[in-house]
Amino acid sequence: MRLQEYEAKEILKGYGIPVPTGVVIRNPADLKSHLGIFEDKLVLKAQVPVGGRGKAGGIVVTGKEEAVARAEGLFGKEIRGFPVREILAEERLDIGKEYYLSVAVDRSSRQPLVLFAEAGGVEIEAVARERPEAVRRITVSPLLPEIPPFALRDLLGGLAKDLAPVANRLYRVFREKDAILAEINPLVTTPKGIFAADAKIILDESALARQKLGKGRAQSDREREAEAHGFSYVDLDGDIGVIGNGAGLTMATIDLIALYGGKAANFLDVGGGADRERVKHAVRLVAGLPSVKVIVLNILGGITRCDEVAMGILEAGIPQKVMVRLAGVNEDAGRALLAGKGYTMFETMDEAVAEAVEAIR
Ligand code: GDP
Ligand code: MN
Repeated sequence: MRLQEYEAKEILKGYGIPVPTGVVIRNPADLKSHLGIFEDKLVLKAQVPVGGRGKAGGIVVTGKEEAVARAEGLFGKEIRGFPVREILAEERLDIGKEYYLSVAVDRSSRQPLVLFAEAGGVEIEAVARERPEAVRRITVSPLLPEIPPFALRDLLGGLAKDLAPVANRLYRVFREKDAILAEINPLVTTPKGIFAADAKIILDESALARQKLGKGRAQSDREREAEAHGFSYVDLDGDIGVIGNGAGLTMATIDLIALYGGKAANFLDVGGGADRERVKHAVRLVAGLPSVKVIVLNILGGITRCDEVAMGILEAGIPQKVMVRLAGVNEDAGRALLAGKGYTMFETMDEAVAEAVEAIR
């Protein structure tokens, strides 16, 4: 999971790596109220999850007087396909040299790999291609809390005295935040010292459980709401809502939708023994997805009673069609409740799914 530049910079700052004075704004008025924190010129940086923003018009240098108007212009833009919703406004740096510094996972040695180049600010891939000798690299045992001094000298050469602390702090960020990449490009020299002018951090999604920062962000509002109800829930990108009981049955429903040429909008497992309240919340949650045109509800009654499920569906009162497959305990009572109320009932999940895909063709 890639963090935005301002999130990455916040982390670097917490580890003692200097970053420019700045503020995140979500509209031009935000900037107006924060202009006081800037001394001279500003850099407006579109917060979009792609590199090369400079070339794509996503980085704007401006004086204080025109800053709000320039921000307004940048908010209207798309940078490499991403609409600009947040801008990081920063004090402009008086840049001397631009370096490249990163820590990444080296798959072949299965160790952290630290890269440094004196030619920063440009794409490191291009530097590595054209002048491979310009990119210096060291691997570090993941058991070490710091980069050993001899390795820092290999990596940084004559710049070790100035840059070693930054390299070690970035290495700690990488290690402690469970990152798969922590990159500063460019790391710059200025009359006021060394600064991270840009920052990119990609977190390992397998480790989000222990990185609180990651967890909240990876979830959509709907996923958070589902978690509060105790459902297993994931947003997908299709238009057929899915509700099942049991992860296996719900997954099988999604597979069947794909088999019939449709696309599921979500995964929602209401869990075992769901009562009418839980079913009502589940149906409303899925129906609330703007993309959902039809819902497949696939319940196998065991501990869950089909009449409770039917009442939950009725109480939800949603506009979309629901293809209902109810089987098991109190099946007949459940069907009787839904009969004549505009719900389509199916004997098998196969039929329910086929009908759902057909309904929105
Ligand atoms: P990227 O193009 O998406 O990687 O965005 P960067 O943040 O790396 O900005 C691209 C380039 O803009 C940098 O390499 C710098 O040359 C320049 N730049 C960014 N911030 C500043 C700044 O505060 N002052 C100056 N003079 N140049 C900047
Ligand atoms: Mn950059």
